[in-house]
Amino acid sequence: MKIKDITHFLESWAPLSLQESYDNSGLLIGEESDSINQALITLDITESVIDEALDSGSDMIIAHHPFIFRGIKQIGNTHWIDRCIRKAIKHNIAIYAIHTNLDNVSTGVNFKISEKLGLKNTSILQPKKETLSKVTVFVPFADKENVLQAMFAAGAGSVGNYDQCSFQVEGTGTFRGNETSNPTIGKKGKYEHVNEVRIEVLVPNYQLGNVLKAMIKAHPYEEVAHYIQPLTNVNQEVGSGMVGELASPMKSDEFLSYLKKQMNLQVIRHTRLVKNEVKKVAFCGGSGSFLLHNAIRKNADIFITGDFKYHDFFEANEEIIIADIGHYESEVFTKELILDALTKNFTKFAFRLSKVDTNPIKYL
Ligand SMILES: [Zn+2]
Repeated sequence: MKIKDITHFLESWAPLSLQESYDNSGLLIGEESDSINQALITLDITESVIDEALDSGSDMIIAHHPFIFRGIKQIGNTHWIDRCIRKAIKHNIAIYAIHTNLDNVSTGVNFKISEKLGLKNTSILQPKKETLSKVTVFVPFADKENVLQAMFAAGAGSVGNYDQCSFQVEGTGTFRGNETSNPTIGKKGKYEHVNEVRIEVLVPNYQLGNVLKAMIKAHPYEEVAHYIQPLTNVNQEVGSGMVGELASPMKSDEFLSYLKKQMNLQVIRHTRLVKNEVKKVAFCGGSGSFLLHNAIRKNADIFITGDFKYHDFFEANEEIIIADIGHYESEVFTKELILDALTKNFTKFAFRLSKVDTNPIKYL
C-alpha cells in the first residue's frame, strides 16, 4: 500500500482545511508515493515511539499531535525533536499528524469521548464559521438531474440529517456564441433563449474543488454559468468541543467516579460541586478551557477538558462544574478511534496501537 492511500482516507474523514490556523497537521515526514507495510498509531511522537516503530517493523507512524510545530532552524542532536526527525528519516519512517482537523469533525476526538461516557443527543459546542459556500449554477432543463446528482455525489447539498438538498427555479437563459464558439444548443452568432433551471446548493469549502469539477464535467455547456458565494452561516457539523446528555441524571459525585472509571483517570481537578446532579455534559479533548463560556451558555452541568489554569477555574462562577482530567487522558482514546476507522477501511493492512505511555506528566 502507498502512504497516499492512508492519507487520502484520513483526509476524507478529517479534511486538512478544517485544522486551526496555528496547526501543522498532514504528512510531516515522508513521500506520498512511497510504499509502506505497517503503520503504528500513537497520540504523540517521542523517541520511544520511533523505536517502537522500528522494533515492530512499522514504516509509518500516525500521530494525533504534530511534533514539528514551530520553525526549525537546524537539525542537530541536542533536542528531542531533532533526534526524532533524524531517526525517522534515517530509517525511512513516514510520520503523519491528524490533529485539530480531527478535533473539529463531529466523528473525531470528541465523538470518542461521548462514546466513552455514553452520551446521547450530542452537538458541537462551538460550531465553526466561514466553512460553507453557496454554489448557484444555471442548467438547461433536460440536464438538471444529471448535473445535480453529480454535485451531490461530490459532496454538495448536505444539511444536518438531510442530504440532496437544493433549491431550484425555472427561467430563461440567453446567450450568443462568437465565431470560435461551439454551442450545445442553438447556433453560433445567433441570439438564443433556452429554458433553464437555476440550482442553488450548499457546499462545505473543503469539498468546493470536487463539486465544481463534477458540476462542470456533468454540465452540457461549453461555458458553465455559475457563481460561488462564501457564507457566514455556522456549520453545525464542524467545530470545537461537544455537548451531550446522559441517558439519566447522576448525582454529581457519582458522575465524577463514573468519569474516572470510564476515562481511566488517576486524578480529576475539579471545582465545587455546585450542581446536585449531572445530566448535560460539555467536553473537549485536549486544551478546551476557551470553551467554558460556551458550556455555560448551553446550560451544561459540567465541563470536562484538560489544561485548565488556576485563575480560569474561578470562571466556573458557581454556574457549572469544571473537571480537568488532563490533556493526555482526555485524548488517549483517540488512538483507538483512528485504529477503528483505518481497520474498517483497510481490512487487509496491518495497523498497530502504540504501547508507549507518551504522557510527559507523572503523578505521585
Ligand atoms: Zn491534544
